[in-house]
Amino acid sequence: MALVAVIGAGVVGVASAYLLARAGHKVTLIDAAREPGLGASAGNAAQLSWAYGDAMASPALLKHLPAIVAKRDPAFRIRWQLDPDFLIWGLRFLANSSASRWWSNTSAILQLANESRQELEALLAEADIAFDYRVAGKLHLYPNRTNFSAARPIVERKTALGFDQRLLTRAAAETVEPALKTYQGEIAGAIFTPGDALGDAAAFCRQLTAHIVDRYGVSTLFGQRVVAFEQRQGRLRALRFSDRGPLHTEVAIVTAGPMSRTFAADLPEVRSIRAVRGYSLTIPFSRGAPRVSLTDTKRKLAFAAIGNRMRVAGIADIERPDAGFGADRFETLRTAACEVFPDLFGLQESESCWSGERPMTPSSRPIIAPSRRIHGVYINAGHGMLGWTLALGSARRMVGMVG
Ligand SMILES: Cc1cc2nc3c(=O)[nH]c(=O)nc-3n(C[C@H](O)[C@H](O)[C@H](O)COP(=O)(O)OP(=O)(O)OC[C@H]3O[C@@H](n4cnc5c(N)ncnc54)[C@H](O)[C@@H]3O)c2cc1C
Repeated sequence: MALVAVIGAGVVGVASAYLLARAGHKVTLIDAAREPGLGASAGNAAQLSWAYGDAMASPALLKHLPAIVAKRDPAFRIRWQLDPDFLIWGLRFLANSSASRWWSNTSAILQLANESRQELEALLAEADIAFDYRVAGKLHLYPNRTNFSAARPIVERKTALGFDQRLLTRAAAETVEPALKTYQGEIAGAIFTPGDALGDAAAFCRQLTAHIVDRYGVSTLFGQRVVAFEQRQGRLRALRFSDRGPLHTEVAIVTAGPMSRTFAADLPEVRSIRAVRGYSLTIPFSRGAPRVSLTDTKRKLAFAAIGNRMRVAGIADIERPDAGFGADRFETLRTAACEVFPDLFGLQESESCWSGERPMTPSSRPIIAPSRRIHGVYINAGHGMLGWTLALGSARRMVGMVG
């Protein structure tokens, strides 16, 4: 049994704290924020995409890059940065965009997602945590025949791996989700994944934290920012904070998303994580809204009905670190959502706006590894577009490394 500090209480940190505590370690869960789940996990698209897992760097995105650079696709924005880490990240991203690298990254992510699903089932059997979890199924909507035909071989590959994905016509998709009858976008075809689920990641963080404090005696330190590691002869001794004395620990798990670089910048692994900013709008659920999760592959929008709320999320902006959010990007998202569901996403008085940073590696695969620099430090970060989906699986692997 080790003394373990988990730095960052987003989905990845809370999942890590849970599995470490379940394995018998004495865990302290730390976050700079006043409660868990307020980072990238707070307002994400809620989708537990067990069968998606597609890496961001891909031949399709590479082909689309000139349009992104020319600012012709409102869903993406790149702010060029004179930062060696940004340039290295960009070159590694391009190197991951070949068809073979894309599939090797995607299949590795799918394997991790599968481990996550198993852990979620075990957790749901153990604890009664309420986070609007639902096996809602998911429809990926394709605007034209060319894109839909290109998706077919990928579905075949995933089916060969045991995933249940079905190719549907628009009419069949409308039977699965009647709200599509009012959808104003083009649909040449859809991929239906009946087993994909959804849930509120922020509620999950809060509820699971309460459970592990109660059941496993996990300690929490919220409102406390870690600023550095204290080490002796290459071995971790303690964590230093901005506003309190050090915390002695034998093991530290870095789960602080893109902010990991602020206190762990000398760990080379962490420098390969860039922030990719996304946005979401949440409105009250109303009649005629879809209950099945939807992904509009043209506009890069994800729609999810979470309890009595409806959320749309999207946009991928590679920004300078600490650039903050752009108020204009909420309008970009609202315009795109209104294009397809004008009756739902017109001006809503009770709309809530959110923006967060996806911690993205060039391969889209998270870093789950012991630090090469400091003995006792482990990294579990860089989950990109799919941190909610991958959190429990990567926590399981990380716990296997801690022993
Ligand atoms: C618009 C959008 C939509 C998304 N949709 C989905 C989806 O549908 N499905 C999916 O699987 N994933 C989705 N994601 C991705 C997913 O939300 C992220 O990958 C995931 O939340 C990352 O979790 P994390 O725990 O690594 O980081 P975070 O949730 O950001 O947690 C990191 C925590 O570390 C804390 N911290 C930072 N620095 C310090 C410090 N120095 N000391 C102490 N604490 C610190 C922060 O306060 C924060 O709470 C989406 C992301 C976005 C932005």
